[in-house]
Amino acid sequence: MAFYVLLGPPGAGKGTLAEDIRKRFPLVHISTGDMLREEIKAKTDRGRQVKAAMDAGSLVPDEMVSAIVAARISKPDVALNGGLLDGFPRTLKQAHIIDDLLRNDGLALDQVLLLGADTDQLIRRLTARRTCMGCGRVFNIHSTPAAVSGICDGCGGHLQQRDDDTEATAIERLRVYRQQTEPLVGFYEQRGILTRLDTGRHREAVAADACRALGLT
Ligand code: ADP
Ligand code: ZN
Repeated sequence: MAFYVLLGPPGAGKGTLAEDIRKRFPLVHISTGDMLREEIKAKTDRGRQVKAAMDAGSLVPDEMVSAIVAARISKPDVALNGGLLDGFPRTLKQAHIIDDLLRNDGLALDQVLLLGADTDQLIRRLTARRTCMGCGRVFNIHSTPAAVSGICDGCGGHLQQRDDDTEATAIERLRVYRQQTEPLVGFYEQRGILTRLDTGRHREAVAADACRALGLT
């Protein structure tokens, strides 16, 4: 069973690419952002703690997010199809944790795809992003608007701006990325499993490149 990681700054298009890869291959999309937002919806104590961190643009504690990932990757669908990690690992600590979790099952990460874009473009994309409150699908008010404004094409749910997609929080998230997550680039490069993906191309071409880089053809 294979495990892949999508790495890159907020707004680089990890979620969109994950969706496109999933259309071609039955990998399980494991998005820590989505799973953490589910915690918030459930209004648990943990959810309230998550919301405070997310709204501030900071990371939630490594132990908390790692426990959520550990629970998810132990499910049978992942054992059957493999996993596409989106938004995890985000710190070196988390990178070691995922190594340990996989090693327990005799596994290791197969490939890491690095998505990039320049800062101005990332801020523009994040603040133009609208997210379906029903199914989590993302739209962009400029490049990929919904057919009916404010309504999800997929499920008819309401589109909203995420609380952390305001300009001030987007800037803070990018700062946190540069400081805490970017060191993973060197970490995986050294291991020889990092591929840089050119995301400045047409969406279909990017998805095809990604699948090729992952050895999925
Ligand atoms: P993006 O990639 O656009 O920043 P995500 O949905 O992946 O959006 O993440 C949103 C927020 O969820 C992050 O800013 C952070 O607060 C929290 N989060 C997601 N994944 C992690 C993680 N692996 N470790 C810590 N916090 C995380
Ligand atoms: Zn929807």
